[in-house]
Amino acid sequence: MAHIVIPGQDEEHLAEAVRRLREARHIAALTGAGISVESGIPDFRSPGGVWTVFDPDEYATIEVFLRDPDKAWTMYRALGREIADKEPNAAHRALARLEAAGRLEAIVTQNIDGLHQAAGSRNVLEIHGDGQRLQCIYCGWLGPMGDEHLVGEGAPACPRCRRPLKPNIVLFGEDVRDMAEIARAMARCDALLVIGTSAQVHPAAGLPEQVHRRGGLIYEFNLGPTDLTRGQVGYWGCGAVSSDWLFQGPATVTVPLVVDEVVGGE
Ligand code: ZN
Repeated sequence: MAHIVIPGQDEEHLAEAVRRLREARHIAALTGAGISVESGIPDFRSPGGVWTVFDPDEYATIEVFLRDPDKAWTMYRALGREIADKEPNAAHRALARLEAAGRLEAIVTQNIDGLHQAAGSRNVLEIHGDGQRLQCIYCGWLGPMGDEHLVGEGAPACPRCRRPLKPNIVLFGEDVRDMAEIARAMARCDALLVIGTSAQVHPAAGLPEQVHRRGGLIYEFNLGPTDLTRGQVGYWGCGAVSSDWLFQGPATVTVPLVVDEVVGGE
């Protein structure tokens, strides 16, 4: 079970966590939907989220795109409108400061909103692709997604081969991205910041365990205790791993609190 640190209380555990983070040599972050909620992007799985309106099995698989791209685009447009015109928040900016200070090597994100890059982060590994570009799976063309793609009907056509385009996101049934680079980052990571995710979905679920098994520390930032806090997340079958600390509260409060202790304030 992790130590639970509530900002304003538990100063001793905070000081210990910060001291050990300062000593870490290779810090990485794993982020999920929770880091972007305060930028106005609801968790797609939460009530009212895109997956409660559009059943993923019926809209978000590669098979549906191949069979009926026009239907799939009704969901892509809803998803695109959810993430359009959103701004990074204090948690995204704190991670960018940590990287700029030479203390954060990589961000692995499950998000497709591009807010880490908008905040200035450079080494962002997007497991599920990005919602800022369009992709042709037939000829390999990639180009920007524009406002014009969020209105109208039907699938836009590839400018090169005229076949239907899709957003550059990983659909169910497609391979996740950047796994070789993520494996390299995890292999040397000795402090992993897990932010806005309980890391229960493959492949994110395996990352805290990989770091923990090598003696690394897990810093969790979530609204409340999760299976990771309680030691009930384990992917590789080697037993469960728990975070070492849970910083409980909104990521916009907890992440800057810890980052600023390590590298100094904004
Ligand atoms: Zn094409």
